[in-house]
Amino acid sequence: MPASLNDLCILVVDDEESIREGSKRIIAKMGCPVDTADCGDTALEIMAAKRYDIVLLDMKMPGTDGLEVLRRIKARDESILVIVITGFATVEVAIEAMKTGAYDFIPKPFEPDQLRIVINRAMEKIRLTQEAERLERERRQTLLDLGMEKSRIATILKVLPVGVMVTNSQGQVVLINPAFLNLLGLDPQKRPGEHVSTYISDAGLCQLILDISRGQHLDYEDIPAYEFSISEDRFLIARGRPVLGDRNECLGAVADLVDITAMKVLDRLKSEFVANVSHELRSPLSTIHEQLAYVLNAQTGQVSADDQHILARAKEKTQGLISLISDLLDLSRIEAGTVCQEIKPVHLEQLLRSIVDFMESRAKSKNQTLRLELPDDPLPPMKADPLALESIFGNLITNAVTYTQEGGEIIVKIELAGLHVRTTVQDNGFGIEAKHLDHVFERFYRVKNEKTRFITGTGLGLPIVKNLVESLNGFITVESTPGEGTTFTVSLPT
Ligand code: ADP
Repeated sequence: MPASLNDLCILVVDDEESIREGSKRIIAKMGCPVDTADCGDTALEIMAAKRYDIVLLDMKMPGTDGLEVLRRIKARDESILVIVITGFATVEVAIEAMKTGAYDFIPKPFEPDQLRIVINRAMEKIRLTQEAERLERERRQTLLDLGMEKSRIATILKVLPVGVMVTNSQGQVVLINPAFLNLLGLDPQKRPGEHVSTYISDAGLCQLILDISRGQHLDYEDIPAYEFSISEDRFLIARGRPVLGDRNECLGAVADLVDITAMKVLDRLKSEFVANVSHELRSPLSTIHEQLAYVLNAQTGQVSADDQHILARAKEKTQGLISLISDLLDLSRIEAGTVCQEIKPVHLEQLLRSIVDFMESRAKSKNQTLRLELPDDPLPPMKADPLALESIFGNLITNAVTYTQEGGEIIVKIELAGLHVRTTVQDNGFGIEAKHLDHVFERFYRVKNEKTRFITGTGLGLPIVKNLVESLNGFITVESTPGEGTTFTVSLPT
C-alpha cells in the first residue's frame, strides 16, 4: 500500500526546543502524526513502545550522542528511515551518520520548505519500498502457484489412463506419461528427451507426430485420428494436435493414445454376427425374389390384376431387402478387412470422369447439372484399389443427386492439397441439419424429414464410404447447411 502521511509516524529528536516544536508544527501541518523527544535516551525509550517510520535525529545532544542513538535504532529496525539534523560545522558527522545507515540529512537551521522536501523524499522512499515488497510477495505467490499447478498437472498426467506425449518443434519428446509408455509396451523408466522415433516404432504414427510438431497441420480439423496395432490382438488409436504459440506458430505437438482393443473385439463380433445373419438370409430371399419374378412373368392367366399388384410390391420389397443384405455383407467384409484390395496406379481424374458420365443421365432426369472440375495441372497417378474408389465416389455422387431437388447443381472437384488429393462432392440440395451431421456415417442412420421421407435407402452407403476411405489411409469430412446444400470432402494420400 502506498504510504500516505496519515499512515506514517514521525519522531523528532532534538534538545533544542525551538527546532523540536517548530518541526513538530510543520510536520503536523503536513497531516502526519508526530511525537517529540528531547534527548537520545528518551527517544529510544519511546521507540521501544511504538514503531516510527521516520526519525528526525539531532546529532549533537547531551547524554547519548546522535550517532550512538542512530546505531541503536538501526540495530533494532533496519527499515526505519533516520534523517539526521546537523549543524553547519558538522559535515563529517553527517558523513559518518550516512555511513552508519542514515537515510538523509538536513543542516541546521532549516527553512520549513527544506524540512518538507526531506520528509516528502523519505515518504516516497517508504512508498517505493512497500511497492517493491508487494511485488516481491506477488512474485513469490506466483512461483508458488506455478509450482503447485505443475505438480498438479504432473499428478494428473501420472494417473491418467490415456497416454499423453508432448514433443517440441524438432520432434523431441518433452513429456511422456506412464500410460503412454505402458500402452506401447516401453520401459516404464524411460524418460523424455529423445527423438519421437525412439519411443514410437509405428512409422505412420511417428511421421504424423513429426508432421504436426513441425507445423504441417495447423488446422485442427484436418488431422486424422490414427489407428494402429502393436500386436495381433492389441489395437490403439492416437490423436495429435499442434501446440500453438502467441503468434500461431507451432511449438510442438500433443498426442494422446487410447487402447481400443475391447471396442475392436466387440465390433468384430457384431460384424461377424451381422455377416452370418445376412449370409443366411441371402439365399432364401433370393429364391423368394426369383419365384415372385417367375410367377409375375409366367402369365398363366391364373393371377388376377389385384394379385399381380400385390406380388409386384412383394418383389419390390424383396429387392430392397436383397440390396440391404448385399450392403451389409459389403460393410462387414470391409470392416473385417477381408476385402482384397487390388492396389494399383489409378488416374483419379479419369475414374471420376467415368462415374460422372455414368451418373449424367440420372442427374438429367432431375434437370440437375452435374459438373466435374479438374485441376489445371494433371495429378500424378495415385496408388489405390479402383473398385474401392468407384464405390466411394459412386456412393457420394449418387447421394448428391438423390438428396438434391430438381434443377439443382452438383460439382465434383479435385485438387492437390499437400500430401493429399482432396476431392469434394458439393451439392446445393436439401442439406443436413447439424444434429444429424455427426451421425450420418453410422450404420443405418437415415435422416427422416419432409423432403427425404419418400426416398428409399439402407443408411449403409456412408458407413461403407467412410470405411473404404479409412482403409486407404484417408479421411472424410462433411459440411452442410439445411436448404443450401452439402459438401463431402475426401482426402486420400497421394
Ligand atoms: P442412404 O442414402 O441409403 O439413406 P447413406 O448412408 O448413404 O444412406 O446416407 C445416410 C443419410 O445421410 C441419408 O439418409 C441422407 O439423409 C443423408 N445424406 C447423405 N448424403 C446427403 C446429401 N448429399 N445431401 C443431403 N443428405 C444426405
